[in-house]
Amino acid sequence: MEVRIDHVIISVSSGDITAWKGDLIVNASNSGLYGGGGVDGALHRAGGPQIAAECAAIRQKQGGVMPGEAALTSAGRLPNLGIIHTVGPIWKGGGAGETATLARCYISSLDLACARGARSIAFPNISTGIYNFPRQLACETALSAVVNYVRGAEPDKLPLNNITFICFEQENARLYGETLKTYI
Ligand code: ADP
Repeated sequence: MEVRIDHVIISVSSGDITAWKGDLIVNASNSGLYGGGGVDGALHRAGGPQIAAECAAIRQKQGGVMPGEAALTSAGRLPNLGIIHTVGPIWKGGGAGETATLARCYISSLDLACARGARSIAFPNISTGIYNFPRQLACETALSAVVNYVRGAEPDKLPLNNITFICFEQENARLYGETLKTYI
């Protein structure tokens, strides 16, 4: 399933993000950038200890990463250009600005990717695992943040031409496919 906006293709697929071969993979990390469970653990395992070492350097330099923000490391032994570590909000019922923070994760990651001159980027379904964000709301928030970002950018200043959402769970793949269709 994909949608084209100017020169950018936004697509949805299912699978394991560690096997994706484009430029930048986004990781759903934690404020301390400590490799944890879920997609974070999978990326640290696949990329090897170099990633944790770079995360430690970021921690030392700036004390970690706030929810909604993002930081870039190499991809270790993975073939990608790098990994963007963003920190999703922990769902606390919706009254703590969780939706705005989740949208900022996508925007901060896209800003970093553009600054790096990346052509392609893959997102996991940030905050919908251990952080317990409701799937449907997370999906709508993610897609509207990304679509609005692309629509708002000047086409010749946007190096990205491929933005993909990689859904690990069947239910998310279905939701993303259905919701992306509404942007056709
Ligand atoms: P969070 O703490 O932000 O909720 P999780 O890693 O627990 O982070 O979950 C975020 C999403 O990543 C969930 O939808 C989960 O199913 C998914 N996920 C877990 N492992 C992988 C993987 N290897 N590739 C892609 N997505 C994954």
